[in-house]
Amino acid sequence: MIINNDTIIKDTDPFIREKSAPVALPLSEEDKQILREMYTYVKNSTDPEIAERDNLRPAVGISAIQLGIPKRLTTVIVHDTDKNGNEVTYEYMLANPRIVSRSLQKAYLESGEGCLSVAEEHEGYVVRSARVTVQGPGLLTDQKITIRARGYLAIVLQHELDHFSGTLFYDHINAGNPFPKVADAVVI
Ligand SMILES: [Zn+2]
Repeated sequence: MIINNDTIIKDTDPFIREKSAPVALPLSEEDKQILREMYTYVKNSTDPEIAERDNLRPAVGISAIQLGIPKRLTTVIVHDTDKNGNEVTYEYMLANPRIVSRSLQKAYLESGEGCLSVAEEHEGYVVRSARVTVQGPGLLTDQKITIRARGYLAIVLQHELDHFSGTLFYDHINAGNPFPKVADAVVI
């Protein structure tokens, strides 16, 4: 499978709005391979030389529907700092992940969000939950994992899981008030 900026499905294609189905467990070799290829894409996309050579757009996550595969598979690689200010890399290859709890407190990226499937910029805050707990089998551990995500990782996971229901980030932007004041929100 070749994954690059030409093969990734864009929002001009109605297929990006398709709902994704859960995959069978334990994971088939085919589904594991999809996860591995998505991981390779995200990893390589942030290497400027490889990205230039292979026509990759930098990303922190990708979901299978963006490859034309309507399955609940996603991969994220997020560099962030933990509560103590230490640099940390979160890497997940997830099957059927779901949000099992979320905070009342909200968070959003000050510069807005982007997406491999969206070519144009859409200005506005994408207001999401500041913290989410996500559960699902992961390929790296091959068993159910629980991710207690906050900050940037929480935003990225919510963005990727939205793809399972055909939701794109700009669906969350209030066109009449794209930069709302959100009480008590974490601004990232
Ligand atoms: Zn996206």
